[in-house]
Amino acid sequence: MIPYQLLTGVAQSVIGKAPEDVVGVSTDSRLPIANHLFIPLVGERFDAHDFLHDAIKQGATAIFWQADHPLPDINVQALTVYVVKDTLTALQTLAKQYRQTLSATVIGITGSNGKTSTKDLIGAVAKVRGKTHLTKGNLNNHIGLPLTILSAPQDTAYLVLEMGMSNFGEIKQLSEIASPDIAVITNIGESHIEFLKTREGIAIAKLEIIAGLKSSGVLIYDGDEPLLKQSYYVKTRTVGFLDGSTDGIHVEALTLERTTFRDNVHKQSFTIPLIGQHHAKNAMYAVLIGREIGLTDALIQQGFNQLTSTGMRFEQEEWNGHLLINDAYNASPTSMKAAIKIIQSLSDPRQKVLVLGDMYELGEQSDDYHRAVGKVIEAPIDYVLTVGQQAKHIADDTKVTHRHVETLVEAKTLLKQLKKPSVILFKASRGMRLETLIQQLKA
Ligand code: ATP
Ligand code: MG
Repeated sequence: MIPYQLLTGVAQSVIGKAPEDVVGVSTDSRLPIANHLFIPLVGERFDAHDFLHDAIKQGATAIFWQADHPLPDINVQALTVYVVKDTLTALQTLAKQYRQTLSATVIGITGSNGKTSTKDLIGAVAKVRGKTHLTKGNLNNHIGLPLTILSAPQDTAYLVLEMGMSNFGEIKQLSEIASPDIAVITNIGESHIEFLKTREGIAIAKLEIIAGLKSSGVLIYDGDEPLLKQSYYVKTRTVGFLDGSTDGIHVEALTLERTTFRDNVHKQSFTIPLIGQHHAKNAMYAVLIGREIGLTDALIQQGFNQLTSTGMRFEQEEWNGHLLINDAYNASPTSMKAAIKIIQSLSDPRQKVLVLGDMYELGEQSDDYHRAVGKVIEAPIDYVLTVGQQAKHIADDTKVTHRHVETLVEAKTLLKQLKKPSVILFKASRGMRLETLIQQLKA
């Protein structure tokens, strides 16, 4: 429920039906939105002001209306029209003000890799303690984050928000809207280096999360990242595999189903249904937050057992004697190397094959980043198939047997010819849609 006072607060003027509280906010006129506020956003291809009649049909009882648009010809008796200067800014301001009405502990998560995984891990743990609301899927930008906040019930105890970005200033804006009590920076990688130029630039952009962090809040970050080592005016905790973190961890066991790691300080082990040593770090962020909100380690583990993770992350399926591992959701040099490491460490007797596609948005040094991934590929990997334009550089310095093709169709033909039973990892940037290759293979 969003109180109408907040809506009138962001409006220049109000027309039509007398203001009333709304049960929620929507920017999509294709979904049922009974008693919702409809916010028509102006995009590059569409202007949602054109869909006003659809929104009313779907049940909207209130709308934001951007002042530079001619007023709609509608029955204003049934609708409250809040005239605003800009609908996007109004959405963000509304979310910021609504957040201030919540008594929830807000947890904001940014970083180059592992935001969604960490969000799901923290969400699973927080749920054990109280009513938890978290970012759906990957709705982590300047629109998704405000909508997530506005969809949080008033009695939410823990609000877990993913914060994504591709340029400077974006995390600052999200953090100021969300005003987190706890901020997490999962890691610094190379994603979006095209815009941010250097890894230092990426670190600065992620650290913008401090902008909205409460002064009594906690910043939890990757202790293995030298670029984050500095003095902060807020309380900090760091998680890392190397010496020097406040909360060191090490991996005890890693299989294709789960990862077990140990907290070096409390000498406590945790098991998570996620694969890869990087997830141990993500989970340890959740452990620290779990303890912070008063959970015992046993209850934190109970939370991990309930984890339901977002799709296409190391999803496994058997096909013709092969094990297909779908990690095609996205890729950056850091996450690609992490995934390759997992395949290398598997004890599965089958031969190990990598199907790697282009990594996007890596700027001028893109070739070098692809080559650097190639350098980590070694036995027991048996065969590498690269797909796309940039991915051919992965194979440049690789000692392992490799082939490069430009299209998914060619890749499919080669994979169908694999004789020996294999474990096959699929990974590339989202835009490559490498998962369709898996679908085509199985068809
Ligand atoms: P996006 O920017 O697309 O939202 P994200 O930051 O939400 O990505 P996830 O979706 O959780 O990240 O994971 C993306 C990839 O990063 C996965 O392939 C995962 O294996 C890898 N990854 C997850 N956590 C880490 C980490 N702490 N360090 C390095 N790589 C990681
Ligand atoms: Mg994500």
